[in-house]
Amino acid sequence: MNDPPKHISHSAREILERCAKSYFLKYFTEAPRLQSLWLAGGSAVHEATEVYDLQSVAGIQDGFDLEAAWRVHFELQLEQLREKEPNENAWRRSQSEDIETWRRIGLQFVQEYIDWRERSPWEIWTTPDGEPAIELDISGRLPGCSVEIKAYLDRVFYDPVFKKHWIVDLKTSKRPPKTPDQFRTYGALMEVKYGIRPEHGAAFMNRQGGLSRPVDLGDVTPKEIGAVYGEAWKKVTSGYFPAEGIAKNDCFLCDVQSSCHAKGGPYAQLHDPDHPGYQPPF
Ligand code: SF4
Repeated sequence: MNDPPKHISHSAREILERCAKSYFLKYFTEAPRLQSLWLAGGSAVHEATEVYDLQSVAGIQDGFDLEAAWRVHFELQLEQLREKEPNENAWRRSQSEDIETWRRIGLQFVQEYIDWRERSPWEIWTTPDGEPAIELDISGRLPGCSVEIKAYLDRVFYDPVFKKHWIVDLKTSKRPPKTPDQFRTYGALMEVKYGIRPEHGAAFMNRQGGLSRPVDLGDVTPKEIGAVYGEAWKKVTSGYFPAEGIAKNDCFLCDVQSSCHAKGGPYAQLHDPDHPGYQPPF
């Protein structure tokens, strides 16, 4: 078993809420993870748009080579995927989106973002330390939670027309986030770190080329959000990790299902203490 986690994050809390066993297998063990083509594609879109925005804040975005940037980052992601799982047939993927399709649509997703950036009056916000808010590390502590909350913001924009700050998260998924939790977490962490409470959050939906419905962050308080993470951390330290995903019909999202005893995973004996013959590898 691994050392227990020392911090939490929005995505870790989301997994914990969905299924405590899934959280345990991911963060306490070396359970093998299913690899996903859609995650690799999404990461490459993030990387290519990051290069564009770094060039844009330096005023050299006209030299941005979209096709080259996309190719380099996507191929690099594929390489990393192959290192983890050489059998491409074992990668999770949407039936209609194989590698070749991703080569095409991923390029479009990056282009959609650039088109939006070019027609939007919004500017990349600069932190009081002079750092452009691109993949910004705002990890920190909130009242009511005893551990650090890790968080990296895709972007913070400043709207010079309405004089407001916007937290923007890039999404290559088909649907926007179901809850405002991610933006509320980031809003609270930004207030603690920079003394600025952003007014709104929204996802940039790369498939649609525009923003999702905005989330109002005006009433978010660090105390309220910290209490939510404090409760989650209590669950982590309770040592009780039931396999809740089956009852919620949520196992299709789980990338450690091959180590889950309740799901009949072939590696459960090595990683899941619920297995009657549990024998951890070391
Ligand atoms: S397979 Fe289902 S029940 Fe098992 S850990 Fe994953 S989500 Fe939980």
